[in-house]
Amino acid sequence: MAGIDQLPPLREVIGTYGLSAKKSLGQNFLLDLNLTAKIARQAGDLSDCDVLEIGPGPGGLTRGLLAEGARKVLAIEKDARCLPALEEIAAAYPERLQVINGDALEVVPLQHLTAPIRVAANLPYNVGTELLVRWLTPKVWPPFWQSLTLMFQKEVAERIVAQPGSKAYGRLAILAQWRSEAKIAMHLPPGAFTPPPKVSSAVVHLTALETPKFEADAEVLSHVVAKAFNQRRKMLRAALKGVTPDIEDRLQAAGIAPTERAENVSLEAFCALAREVAKK
Ligand code: SAM
Repeated sequence: MAGIDQLPPLREVIGTYGLSAKKSLGQNFLLDLNLTAKIARQAGDLSDCDVLEIGPGPGGLTRGLLAEGARKVLAIEKDARCLPALEEIAAAYPERLQVINGDALEVVPLQHLTAPIRVAANLPYNVGTELLVRWLTPKVWPPFWQSLTLMFQKEVAERIVAQPGSKAYGRLAILAQWRSEAKIAMHLPPGAFTPPPKVSSAVVHLTALETPKFEADAEVLSHVVAKAFNQRRKMLRAALKGVTPDIEDRLQAAGIAPTERAENVSLEAFCALAREVAKK
């Protein structure tokens, strides 16, 4: 049988290619192929899609994505030590895996991909958050991706799906939920990884919406929300003082009490405020 079954187990791959985990690259590998197949399934129907995978490492998730039928996987990996292991997978799935050795924060992958495109990754958390924000804030919408299936530290995952009134609610929730459907698809304990990280993890699945949930200018909304949550304990009339001198009037016009705090303001109300602020 072609594909995943003819490849050696991942523990063997790690030994063969000397892939001792590097902390500096956030390497916590998933070696259980049942688990990586399950994560790949969270990404949705892959059969007609190109998949962009960031940080494939020894290729556990890559194998899952290919076995789940991805038309093509483009994998961007910073650690050149992983390339021979990924070459083996490419040989088992002719013409379906392309690997770029580079930093995902610098490589521009779009020229290698054909729509529809889904993104899947088990990434170091700092890189993951930075990429997520970039993927959520392009100038044009809808974005190049149809869905994002990303592993995060549990606390970050909770921030992405958080609702008003909770401590986790903030800029990330607003950015994610304004233009996509965001949900936690799976929880993973530290022991699912080799070596185990200190924290629990979760897979977040985001589906891009054709149009934002509520009308607002992306830059104004982003600016207002960043200011509001920078000083989340302050009342909005104080936290947003620098946005415009008549912020109290604008808050009231948007139906928000100037004495309210950011963490109690809904996405819809922030969008209303962004529209008010954008008025001359
Ligand atoms: N996806 C593999 C798995 O699930 O076993 C590896 C996951 S490990 C948490 C993160 C991977 O991202 C490592 O292989 C690491 O070398 C790679 N990586 C770290 N920083 C990166 C970057 N800036 N660009 C691309 N890959 C990166």
